[in-house]
Amino acid sequence: MSVLEIEALSVDAVDGTQAVPLLRGVDLTLSPGETLGLAGESGSGKTLTGLAIMGLLPQPAVRMTQGTLRFQGQSLTTLSPKARQQLRGSAMAMIFQEPMTALNPVQRVGSQLAELYQIHRPNLSSSTIRQELIQGLANVGVSEPERRLTSYPHELSGGLRQRMMIAMALALKPRLLICDEPTTALDVTIQAQVLDLIRTLSREIGTAVLFITHDLGVLAELADRVAVMYAGRIVEEQSVWDIFASPKHPYTQGLLRSIPRLDQSAQTRLAIIPGQVPQPTEPLSGCRFHPRCDQATALCRHTQPRMIDGAACHLFGEQTC
Ligand code: SF4
Repeated sequence: MSVLEIEALSVDAVDGTQAVPLLRGVDLTLSPGETLGLAGESGSGKTLTGLAIMGLLPQPAVRMTQGTLRFQGQSLTTLSPKARQQLRGSAMAMIFQEPMTALNPVQRVGSQLAELYQIHRPNLSSSTIRQELIQGLANVGVSEPERRLTSYPHELSGGLRQRMMIAMALALKPRLLICDEPTTALDVTIQAQVLDLIRTLSREIGTAVLFITHDLGVLAELADRVAVMYAGRIVEEQSVWDIFASPKHPYTQGLLRSIPRLDQSAQTRLAIIPGQVPQPTEPLSGCRFHPRCDQATALCRHTQPRMIDGAACHLFGEQTC
Protein backbone atom coordinates (compact mmCIF):
# COMPACT_ATOMS: atom_id res chain seq x y z
CA MET A 1 0.00 0.00 0.00
CA SER A 2 1.24 3.52 -0.78
CA VAL A 3 2.22 5.67 2.18
CA LEU A 4 0.94 8.79 0.47
CA GLU A 5 -1.43 9.31 -2.46
CA ILE A 6 -2.25 12.79 -3.69
CA GLU A 7 -4.81 13.20 -6.42
CA ALA A 8 -5.72 16.42 -8.22
CA LEU A 9 -4.69 18.64 -5.31
CA SER A 10 -5.62 22.29 -5.81
CA VAL A 11 -4.93 25.10 -3.34
CA ASP A 12 -6.12 28.71 -3.60
CA ALA A 13 -5.25 31.95 -1.82
CA VAL A 14 -8.56 33.52 -0.94
CA ASP A 15 -8.94 37.25 -0.52
CA GLY A 16 -12.55 38.32 -0.03
CA THR A 17 -14.39 37.06 -3.08
CA GLN A 18 -11.20 36.60 -5.12
CA ALA A 19 -9.49 33.21 -5.34
CA VAL A 20 -5.94 33.00 -6.70
CA PRO A 21 -4.82 29.51 -7.80
CA LEU A 22 -1.57 28.46 -6.10
CA LEU A 23 -1.56 24.71 -6.83
CA ARG A 24 -3.40 23.00 -9.66
CA GLY A 25 -4.07 19.29 -10.17
CA VAL A 26 -1.06 17.96 -8.26
CA ASP A 27 -0.82 14.13 -8.36
CA LEU A 28 1.90 12.34 -6.38
CA THR A 29 2.35 8.93 -4.77
CA LEU A 30 4.97 7.63 -2.39
CA SER A 31 5.67 4.01 -1.45
CA PRO A 32 7.30 2.77 1.76
CA GLY A 33 11.07 3.28 1.70
CA GLU A 34 10.90 5.49 -1.38
CA THR A 35 12.37 8.99 -1.70
CA LEU A 36 10.60 11.34 -4.08
CA GLY A 37 12.39 14.59 -4.89
CA LEU A 38 10.17 17.62 -5.49
CA ALA A 39 12.23 20.13 -7.47
CA GLY A 40 11.69 23.59 -8.95
CA GLU A 41 12.57 27.24 -8.43
CA SER A 42 11.28 29.32 -5.52
CA GLY A 43 7.63 30.16 -5.97
CA SER A 44 6.79 26.97 -7.87
CA GLY A 45 4.57 25.58 -5.07
CA LYS A 46 6.84 22.94 -3.50
CA THR A 47 6.59 24.11 0.11
CA LEU A 48 2.85 24.67 -0.24
CA THR A 49 2.45 21.05 -1.37
CA GLY A 50 4.29 19.90 1.78
CA LEU A 51 2.15 22.13 4.02
CA ALA A 52 -1.07 20.88 2.38
CA ILE A 53 -0.06 17.25 3.08
CA MET A 54 0.73 18.10 6.71
CA GLY A 55 -2.54 20.02 7.14
CA LEU A 56 -0.57 23.18 7.92
CA LEU A 57 -1.87 25.59 5.27
CA PRO A 58 -2.33 29.08 6.75
CA GLN A 59 -6.13 28.84 6.67
CA PRO A 60 -8.46 30.53 5.94
CA ALA A 61 -6.32 32.75 3.66
CA VAL A 62 -4.86 29.72 1.86
CA ARG A 63 -6.99 26.62 1.52
CA MET A 64 -7.32 23.32 -0.28
CA THR A 65 -10.14 23.65 -2.81
CA GLN A 66 -10.02 20.29 -4.56
CA GLY A 67 -8.43 16.87 -4.54
CA THR A 68 -7.78 13.96 -2.22
CA LEU A 69 -4.94 13.21 0.18
CA ARG A 70 -4.51 9.67 1.50
CA PHE A 71 -2.03 8.55 4.13
CA GLN A 72 -1.61 4.78 4.44
CA GLY A 73 -4.97 4.35 2.74
CA GLN A 74 -6.78 6.74 5.08
CA SER A 75 -8.29 10.00 3.82
CA LEU A 76 -6.59 12.98 5.47
CA THR A 77 -9.18 15.48 4.32
CA THR A 78 -11.97 13.90 6.36
CA LEU A 79 -9.93 13.60 9.59
CA SER A 80 -10.70 15.89 12.52
CA PRO A 81 -8.08 18.59 13.27
CA LYS A 82 -7.24 16.67 16.49
CA ALA A 83 -6.67 13.37 14.67
CA ARG A 84 -4.55 15.16 12.09
CA GLN A 85 -2.47 16.76 14.83
CA GLN A 86 -1.97 13.34 16.40
CA LEU A 87 -0.48 12.07 13.14
CA ARG A 88 1.94 14.99 12.91
CA GLY A 89 5.08 14.39 14.88
CA SER A 90 4.50 10.64 15.14
CA ALA A 91 3.52 9.04 11.82
CA MET A 92 4.30 12.05 9.64
CA ALA A 93 6.83 14.80 10.23
CA MET A 94 8.15 17.81 8.35
CA ILE A 95 11.56 19.45 8.52
CA PHE A 96 11.23 23.13 7.67
CA GLN A 97 13.65 25.45 5.97
CA GLU A 98 13.41 27.85 8.89
CA PRO A 99 13.94 26.04 12.23
CA MET A 100 12.21 28.68 14.37
CA THR A 101 8.95 27.67 12.65
CA ALA A 102 9.07 24.36 14.49
CA LEU A 103 10.76 25.28 17.79
CA ASN A 104 9.05 26.99 20.69
CA PRO A 105 11.28 29.99 21.56
CA VAL A 106 10.38 29.99 25.28
CA GLN A 107 10.90 26.29 26.02
CA ARG A 108 14.22 24.47 26.44
CA VAL A 109 14.90 22.23 23.45
CA GLY A 110 15.28 19.16 25.68
CA SER A 111 11.79 19.52 27.09
CA GLN A 112 10.34 20.14 23.58
CA LEU A 113 11.91 16.93 22.36
CA ALA A 114 10.90 15.00 25.50
CA GLU A 115 7.29 16.20 25.10
CA LEU A 116 7.11 14.48 21.72
CA TYR A 117 7.92 11.16 23.33
CA GLN A 118 5.59 11.76 26.30
CA ILE A 119 2.68 12.40 23.91
CA HIS A 120 3.35 9.70 21.35
CA ARG A 121 5.27 7.04 23.38
CA PRO A 122 3.79 7.40 26.89
CA ASN A 123 5.14 4.01 27.98
CA LEU A 124 8.79 5.01 27.78
CA SER A 125 10.57 5.84 31.04
CA SER A 126 12.20 9.27 31.40
CA SER A 127 15.69 7.74 31.44
CA THR A 128 15.00 5.89 28.13
CA ILE A 129 13.64 9.11 26.62
CA ARG A 130 16.75 10.98 27.74
CA GLN A 131 19.04 8.32 26.23
CA GLU A 132 17.11 8.42 22.94
CA LEU A 133 17.31 12.22 22.86
CA ILE A 134 21.05 12.24 23.42
CA GLN A 135 21.55 9.60 20.72
CA GLY A 136 19.21 11.46 18.34
CA LEU A 137 21.17 14.71 18.75
CA ALA A 138 24.51 12.91 18.33
CA ASN A 139 23.13 11.33 15.12
CA VAL A 140 22.62 14.76 13.56
CA GLY A 141 26.10 15.95 14.53
CA VAL A 142 25.27 17.93 17.71
CA SER A 143 28.33 18.03 19.94
CA GLU A 144 27.83 17.86 23.73
CA PRO A 145 24.21 16.77 23.27
CA GLU A 146 23.52 16.54 27.03
CA ARG A 147 24.41 20.20 27.51
CA ARG A 148 22.41 21.31 24.43
CA LEU A 149 19.25 19.78 25.83
CA THR A 150 19.15 22.53 28.45
CA SER A 151 19.47 25.36 25.88
CA TYR A 152 16.73 27.65 24.63
CA PRO A 153 16.46 27.94 20.81
CA HIS A 154 17.82 31.53 20.81
CA GLU A 155 21.01 30.34 22.55
CA LEU A 156 21.86 28.10 19.59
CA SER A 157 23.37 29.00 16.22
CA GLY A 158 21.17 28.70 13.10
CA GLY A 159 22.90 25.44 12.11
CA LEU A 160 22.38 23.92 15.57
CA ARG A 161 18.72 24.92 15.64
CA GLN A 162 18.32 23.26 12.25
CA ARG A 163 19.86 20.04 13.57
CA MET A 164 17.64 20.16 16.68
CA MET A 165 14.60 20.36 14.42
CA ILE A 166 15.84 17.51 12.26
CA ALA A 167 16.41 15.41 15.39
CA MET A 168 12.86 16.26 16.49
CA ALA A 169 11.39 15.19 13.13
CA LEU A 170 13.33 11.93 13.07
CA ALA A 171 12.82 11.10 16.76
CA LEU A 172 9.71 8.95 16.39
CA LYS A 173 10.76 7.34 13.11
CA PRO A 174 7.82 8.64 11.06
CA ARG A 175 6.25 6.69 8.16
CA LEU A 176 6.33 9.87 6.07
CA LEU A 177 9.02 12.52 6.30
CA ILE A 178 8.70 15.79 4.37
CA CYS A 179 11.99 17.67 4.13
CA ASP A 180 11.82 21.25 2.88
CA GLU A 181 15.35 22.35 1.91
CA PRO A 182 16.53 20.85 5.21
CA THR A 183 20.26 21.24 4.74
CA THR A 184 20.54 24.68 3.10
CA ALA A 185 21.81 26.35 6.30
CA LEU A 186 24.26 23.57 7.19
CA ASP A 187 27.91 23.19 6.26
CA VAL A 188 28.77 20.43 3.78
CA THR A 189 29.99 17.87 6.34
CA ILE A 190 26.83 18.12 8.43
CA GLN A 191 24.75 18.20 5.22
CA ALA A 192 26.23 14.87 4.18
CA GLN A 193 25.63 13.46 7.68
CA VAL A 194 21.97 14.52 7.69
CA LEU A 195 21.34 13.18 4.17
CA ASP A 196 22.92 9.91 5.22
CA LEU A 197 20.65 9.73 8.25
CA ILE A 198 17.54 10.31 6.10
CA ARG A 199 18.73 7.62 3.67
CA THR A 200 19.26 5.14 6.55
CA LEU A 201 15.84 5.89 8.04
CA SER A 202 14.24 5.30 4.67
CA ARG A 203 16.14 2.08 3.96
CA GLU A 204 15.96 0.52 7.42
CA ILE A 205 12.49 1.34 8.64
CA GLY A 206 10.78 2.11 5.34
CA THR A 207 10.10 5.81 5.90
CA ALA A 208 8.78 7.40 2.71
CA VAL A 209 10.54 10.72 2.09
CA LEU A 210 9.30 13.73 0.12
CA PHE A 211 12.43 15.82 -0.35
CA ILE A 212 11.73 19.40 -1.45
CA THR A 213 14.65 21.28 -2.97
CA HIS A 214 15.73 23.67 -5.72
CA ASP A 215 19.02 21.72 -5.88
CA LEU A 216 18.76 18.86 -8.35
CA GLY A 217 22.33 17.85 -7.44
CA VAL A 218 21.16 16.70 -3.96
CA LEU A 219 18.40 14.63 -5.56
CA ALA A 220 20.89 12.80 -7.78
CA GLU A 221 22.28 11.24 -4.60
CA LEU A 222 19.13 10.77 -2.61
CA ALA A 223 15.98 10.35 -4.68
CA ASP A 224 14.44 7.32 -6.40
CA ARG A 225 12.09 9.50 -8.44
CA VAL A 226 11.92 13.22 -9.16
CA ALA A 227 8.85 15.38 -9.75
CA VAL A 228 9.53 18.82 -11.20
CA MET A 229 7.14 21.59 -10.31
CA TYR A 230 6.50 24.85 -12.13
CA ALA A 231 3.97 27.56 -11.31
CA GLY A 232 1.86 25.29 -9.09
CA ARG A 233 1.81 22.22 -11.36
CA ILE A 234 3.87 19.07 -11.77
CA VAL A 235 5.44 19.38 -15.24
CA GLU A 236 7.59 16.24 -15.28
CA GLU A 237 7.94 13.08 -13.20
CA GLN A 238 10.48 10.37 -13.93
CA SER A 239 12.89 8.03 -12.19
CA VAL A 240 15.98 9.87 -10.98
CA TRP A 241 17.97 8.09 -13.68
CA ASP A 242 15.67 9.25 -16.50
CA ILE A 243 15.46 12.81 -15.21
CA PHE A 244 19.24 13.16 -15.40
CA ALA A 245 19.87 10.99 -18.47
CA SER A 246 16.98 12.14 -20.67
CA PRO A 247 14.95 15.03 -19.24
CA LYS A 248 11.89 15.69 -21.41
CA HIS A 249 10.39 18.99 -20.30
CA PRO A 250 12.24 22.15 -21.44
CA TYR A 251 12.00 23.47 -17.85
CA THR A 252 13.73 20.36 -16.43
CA GLN A 253 16.37 20.66 -19.15
CA GLY A 254 16.93 24.30 -18.14
CA LEU A 255 17.24 23.41 -14.45
CA LEU A 256 19.80 20.72 -15.28
CA ARG A 257 21.85 23.10 -17.45
CA SER A 258 22.13 25.44 -14.47
CA ILE A 259 23.90 22.83 -12.25
CA PRO A 260 27.72 23.17 -12.14
CA ARG A 261 29.48 20.07 -13.51
CA LEU A 262 32.87 18.64 -12.61
CA ASP A 263 33.89 18.36 -16.29
CA GLN A 264 33.31 22.09 -16.89
CA SER A 265 36.16 24.60 -16.55
CA ALA A 266 35.87 27.19 -13.78
CA GLN A 267 35.50 29.85 -16.51
CA THR A 268 32.37 28.23 -18.01
CA ARG A 269 29.31 30.37 -17.35
CA LEU A 270 26.30 28.40 -16.14
CA ALA A 271 23.20 28.59 -18.30
CA ILE A 272 20.25 30.26 -16.64
CA ILE A 273 16.58 30.07 -17.54
CA PRO A 274 15.59 33.58 -18.66
CA GLY A 275 12.83 35.36 -16.75
CA GLN A 276 11.10 34.29 -13.55
CA VAL A 277 8.36 31.99 -12.30
CA PRO A 278 5.10 33.92 -12.98
CA GLN A 279 3.15 35.30 -10.05
CA PRO A 280 -0.04 33.27 -9.39
CA THR A 281 -2.07 36.42 -10.16
CA GLU A 282 -0.48 36.81 -13.60
CA PRO A 283 -3.03 35.96 -16.30
CA LEU A 284 -1.26 33.49 -18.61
CA SER A 285 -3.06 31.16 -20.97
CA GLY A 286 -1.72 27.83 -22.22
CA CYS A 287 1.51 26.42 -20.79
CA ARG A 288 2.63 28.73 -17.96
CA PHE A 289 6.25 28.17 -18.96
CA HIS A 290 5.74 29.51 -22.50
CA PRO A 291 7.16 33.05 -21.95
CA ARG A 292 10.47 31.46 -20.85
CA CYS A 293 10.55 28.50 -23.24
CA ASP A 294 12.71 28.63 -26.37
CA GLN A 295 10.66 25.83 -27.96
CA ALA A 296 7.21 27.39 -27.47
CA THR A 297 4.77 27.23 -30.37
CA ALA A 298 1.40 28.88 -30.98
CA LEU A 299 -0.31 25.86 -29.38
CA CYS A 300 1.70 26.40 -26.17
CA ARG A 301 0.37 29.95 -25.86
CA HIS A 302 -3.30 28.94 -25.73
CA THR A 303 -3.55 25.28 -24.65
CA GLN A 304 -2.50 23.85 -21.29
CA PRO A 305 -0.55 20.62 -21.90
CA ARG A 306 -1.66 17.42 -20.12
CA MET A 307 0.73 15.03 -18.38
CA ILE A 308 1.52 12.26 -20.87
CA ASP A 309 4.29 9.69 -20.35
CA GLY A 310 5.79 11.65 -17.46
CA ALA A 311 5.86 15.14 -19.03
CA ALA A 312 3.30 17.92 -19.41
CA CYS A 313 4.56 19.49 -22.62
CA HIS A 314 3.18 19.75 -26.17
CA LEU A 315 6.46 18.38 -27.51
CA PHE A 316 5.55 14.93 -26.10
CA GLY A 317 2.73 12.47 -26.39
CA GLU A 318 -0.23 12.96 -28.69
CA GLN A 319 -0.58 16.66 -28.13
CA THR A 320 1.72 17.97 -30.90
CA CYS A 321 0.65 20.98 -32.98
FE1 SF4 B 1 7.68 24.83 -23.92
FE2 SF4 B 1 5.38 24.43 -25.15
FE3 SF4 B 1 6.46 22.45 -23.80
FE4 SF4 B 1 5.42 24.55 -22.51
S1 SF4 B 1 4.31 23.07 -23.76
S2 SF4 B 1 7.36 23.59 -22.10
S3 SF4 B 1 5.95 26.21 -23.89
S4 SF4 B 1 7.28 23.44 -25.62
